[in-house]
Amino acid sequence: MDLVAPLAPAAVELVALTKRYAQGAPAVDNINLRIASGSYCCLLGPSGCGKSTTLRMIAGHETVTSGDILLENRNITTLPAAARGTAMMFQSFALFPHLSALDNVAFSLKMKGVDKPTRHKQAQDLLERVAMGHLAQRKPGELSGGQQQRVALARALITQPRVLLLDEPLSALDPFLRIQMRAELRRWQKELGLTFIHVTHSQEEAMALADTMVVMNQGLIEQVGSPHEVYNAPATEFIARFMGGHNVIATAAGKIAVRNDHMQIASAGDGGIGKPRSGAPGIPGTITDVEYQGTYVLLGLQAQDSAGAKGISVMLPEAAYTAQPFVLGESVHLSWTDRHAHALAA
Ligand code: ADP
Ligand code: MG
Repeated sequence: MDLVAPLAPAAVELVALTKRYAQGAPAVDNINLRIASGSYCCLLGPSGCGKSTTLRMIAGHETVTSGDILLENRNITTLPAAARGTAMMFQSFALFPHLSALDNVAFSLKMKGVDKPTRHKQAQDLLERVAMGHLAQRKPGELSGGQQQRVALARALITQPRVLLLDEPLSALDPFLRIQMRAELRRWQKELGLTFIHVTHSQEEAMALADTMVVMNQGLIEQVGSPHEVYNAPATEFIARFMGGHNVIATAAGKIAVRNDHMQIASAGDGGIGKPRSGAPGIPGTITDVEYQGTYVLLGLQAQDSAGAKGISVMLPEAAYTAQPFVLGESVHLSWTDRHAHALAA
């Protein structure tokens, strides 16, 4: 695709990037990636897949075993962290509890020896920018979670980074706050027009935030695409399972993924509406679980595909379920249309 589509300017480019710690398989294994300037990019994958190592190499907090890191076409692979044009925002924001919001934001300028009036002016300006100017004298403990996040953002922005790096910034927050905070991160990223690279193990978080999702597994990139592309057409069985909401079905032609809300289900004895046309792809199953979820009803099934018995899930809109309720133990026929079946790479 890179060869035909006009390329947006890459803010960050990783070229054959590899990290090998002393022990075991490479933590990051020869990855190539272009992250478009001004985009929100999420590195997504299970614990231990190499997300933080990748981010720390971009930040300059971890050495590179081989390969290159380019920022706006500058090779930054061996530059010290402070000279790269990147800034990092950490889990739970990691603010200094004994310093005011203003002094937290001004901290890195203080370390650089910038005089007090200058650094306080810059810090105050940034706090105004994130609508926190009036709370500049408060300490972190006197601020809400959302306000703390804005202070952490201002603190990261004071070095005038081109790229903001965020390592699981929301994962220590309670679920309600996490959803609020992610909406706010997204809003600030668009407003500032900066490139954000955000590491998360939550597919829900990545889908809510990302322009581009980069799904990693065991030190490799398995798929790069918009949330829509990745969710609708997972490239591999790993991604279909990791993203959730999909059934992986073995057919004579190989494995496919079908979204559970794209599955069609008909009572096995049903001669009327809902009965799949003959010859349509399908497998037999038995209802094992019925779970009401509000808008949807989630059916659990034991089904039989060409590889054997397996669990399958089907999401039915509430109205469809109410019109034709399925009951535990009922024999059904499961089917799907070709356009909803995505071939998975072996
Ligand atoms: P993630 O952020 O996706 O959970 P990491 O990048 O932290 O994954 O880790 C990737 C792999 O590298 C894991 O197997 C982890 O144990 C290993 N690893 C991470 N940091 C170190 C380190 N400092 N020394 C040795 N191994 C490490
Ligand atoms: Mg990590």
